[in-house]
Amino acid sequence: MGDSSVMVWDSVLSGLKTQIPLTSFETWFSDALPIDYTNGALVIGVPDSFKKGGIERRYRDAIEDIATSVCQEPVSLEVRVLASRSNNEEPRLEKVEASTLPPEGGSLPLNPDYTFTAFVRGENNRLAVAASEATADAVARGLRKPYNPLFVYGSVGLGKTHLLQAIGNAVMELEPGKSVVYTTSERFAIELINAIRNNATAAFREKYRQVDLLLIDDVQFLKGKEATQEELFHTFNDLHGNRKQIVLSSDRPPEDLSGLQDRLVSRFKWGLEADIQPPDFETRIAILREKASTRGLEVDHDVLELIAKRISSNVRALEGALVKAIAYAELQGQPLTPKSIEGVLPKEGRRPRLTVTHIKEEVALHYQIPLQELDGASRKKETMQARQVAIYLARELTELSFPSIGREFGDRDHTTIMHACSKIKLLLEDTPLLAADISELQEGLESRYSLVR
Ligand code: ADP
Ligand code: MG
Repeated sequence: MGDSSVMVWDSVLSGLKTQIPLTSFETWFSDALPIDYTNGALVIGVPDSFKKGGIERRYRDAIEDIATSVCQEPVSLEVRVLASRSNNEEPRLEKVEASTLPPEGGSLPLNPDYTFTAFVRGENNRLAVAASEATADAVARGLRKPYNPLFVYGSVGLGKTHLLQAIGNAVMELEPGKSVVYTTSERFAIELINAIRNNATAAFREKYRQVDLLLIDDVQFLKGKEATQEELFHTFNDLHGNRKQIVLSSDRPPEDLSGLQDRLVSRFKWGLEADIQPPDFETRIAILREKASTRGLEVDHDVLELIAKRISSNVRALEGALVKAIAYAELQGQPLTPKSIEGVLPKEGRRPRLTVTHIKEEVALHYQIPLQELDGASRKKETMQARQVAIYLARELTELSFPSIGREFGDRDHTTIMHACSKIKLLLEDTPLLAADISELQEGLESRYSLVR
């Protein structure tokens, strides 16, 4: 235990810091402590049940997401209330930051399951896969690099990490003598901080500048990390100058990476940008079939079809639903049939048409405020944000004009509505937690109502 939980928690904290306001960060996390990290279960301790509840309600998803990307395995969070301690202890956050960074950090082992063979191709990822394979081939055979860097982007759960690691695995298999380093921008940052602390920056540079293939996952998390960006900039130049391959991934294209130095972003655009989109229905079926067969299971086509119908935007969720369906059927002692797994899938069927009232209900419930306040005049910060989110969703999910939406929200002027929409759009760009809120709301609404668009 101990060490790895501290390391994981440390990465989670630095990720969260870039996602939430500093005041919330301090309120919730200043005295949270890492306790254990074993088999994908991260346990943290907090002083009281108020904090436990708050962290679980508001930050569980964000924490699990960051930890999952740092650890490269699904991580679940457990929050425990710790017995009180003596007062003369230092504030925990500082302690964590000061003393517990791992001596090494840095590169991560490749997951051997993430291969090209196990990666299902479809229209959604064709360019990204082809470019990844060409890149792996060029590195292994010491050929001229077709794209440098290769920049793979797409939203969460669509296979970026899988592809990056497949490149690394392929190179290692074809040419074990090559030096391959896979890391995440978070890990890279931690390693750099350690190197600076231990006066070992020369060794750090040496390590990165002799690699044949550098894979850096999730570069969107470089945001706000100035020293790390600076270092990566120089590493990039050295590697590129020596014709070594760099592959990067991100949740958005380079031009949308706000908070990164322009000169770094411009280098990210030197090679090829390949996007990954959500898979279409046929590809989802093929992915489910692949996932079932790696688990040694044969699953009926109509079961796969039902799952693929209900879950469309995220491959990790697709895989999760399959695993859940299998477990559920086993628990019930029933064979795996569409009927037996109905209960674990999002609902379908004849759904009522979505109205602004439905949106308001959903938003009010989500933010725990009375529904009337969405129409009202309250200028409390949370209320205003909830109202703007509801207005934004009304605009996105219905065909109503700005003036009609204004009438639906307590007779507001259409300029107020337009302002709310652009405000939320802007916030969405660099507030992953708000983005998560909104996509959760949207998914909930889409699963229960039908949309006219
Ligand atoms: P990202 O890094 O984009 O968030 P991951 O690479 O972690 O996504 O993918 C999430 C899960 O979905 C992994 O288990 C991965 O193997 C799987 N996956 C994604 N796309 C595919 C695909 N085209 N074929 C097979 N598995 C996939
Ligand atoms: Mg990833």
